[in-house]
Amino acid sequence: MRKVYLDYAATTPADPEVVQSMLPYFTYVFANPLSVHDFGRSAATAVDGARDTVARFLGAKPDEIVFTSGGTESNNAAIKGAAFAARGRGNHIITTTIEHRAILSPCVFLERQGFSVTRLPVDGSGMVDPDAVRKAITPQTILISVMHANNEIGTILPIAEIGGIARERGVLFHTDAVQTFGHIPVNADDLMVDLLSASAHKFYGPKGAGLLYIRKGSKIGRFMHGGSQEKNRRASTHNVPGIVGFAKAVEIAERGEAAEMQHLTRLRTKVIDGVLGKIRRAQLNGHPTERLPGNVNLSFRNVQGERLLRGLNAAGIGCSTGSACSASNTGPSHVLDAISGSLRLSLGKQVTEEDIDYVLDILPREVRMLRAVEQA
Ligand SMILES: *Cc1c(COP(=O)(O)O)cnc(C)c1O
Repeated sequence: MRKVYLDYAATTPADPEVVQSMLPYFTYVFANPLSVHDFGRSAATAVDGARDTVARFLGAKPDEIVFTSGGTESNNAAIKGAAFAARGRGNHIITTTIEHRAILSPCVFLERQGFSVTRLPVDGSGMVDPDAVRKAITPQTILISVMHANNEIGTILPIAEIGGIARERGVLFHTDAVQTFGHIPVNADDLMVDLLSASAHKFYGPKGAGLLYIRKGSKIGRFMHGGSQEKNRRASTHNVPGIVGFAKAVEIAERGEAAEMQHLTRLRTKVIDGVLGKIRRAQLNGHPTERLPGNVNLSFRNVQGERLLRGLNAAGIGCSTGSACSASNTGPSHVLDAISGSLRLSLGKQVTEEDIDYVLDILPREVRMLRAVEQA
């Protein structure tokens, strides 16, 4: 049976070149980068090189990059770090209803600590109105956090516009760019952000490696107390293999991003046109054009997402309803709670035209079968 992985938004396989680049740092260049001996200096050189690479990619300065364990840590650090650093100046945070749980959950935590949170709604295509952000700002507002692209429905949000508003009003602006970094252009100045989260495993890098970009001058509280790593901002011995692999994934994205965008957009169009052409009462969720090249999110009237997922899995197709995090929870996803039977097919480098042909063969059959069962 053909096996087709269509869950790249949940995680991607590490590129073999990434794995190769990491191997020496487990065994030969294994020392602690903080150690003053030559062994440690070699490891520190590798971390410095990786920092230069990711900083250049982001249009940032090397000392504006803090390496973390991934997107969740970066988001927590940004939200809590900004909030605690601004305590006394203001207590109001603006975000959206469609953020990843790694933003929503720290916001709930902060509410219990006395902060107040405005969660802006999105329109039917998952868009946030920049004007709504402008109107939500009060003298108490200390932070705005809006994701660059949504992980479930793939909508790309107007970050630069919101960033312009935040800057004009002197409010710190964070974006969760985990779904875009390494996939579409992400430049800190173009996006007008002060803080930005990225994660290596979402673009063919290793799991357990990420970054928080902190624009020079932005006030962020220390987010891991301990050693003096990362200029006292994030303690803990560097994950040197992870950091090296992260930088290698960035190098690969640098040279291949444009081609990947083209490849995925072509496949995405093929899936969407194929499904909408073959299946009645099917609907594309998210934005028609402002969407991640690899994201397809569909719903089918009278079909339960969970059942469809199981049927596809039995046919060798691995995809998800909403995000992996919400799929493992019982309740419906917070992004798509109004839509039943939503299916996310997220595409990546290894997906071929033949894989899509297979999906376009299986999916209509599964939907028809489930609808027949539903009616019986
Ligand atoms: C995956 C994801 C995260 C979490 O990143 P990890 O590196 O897995 O912690 C955060 N935000 C978004 C939008 C994501 O897709």
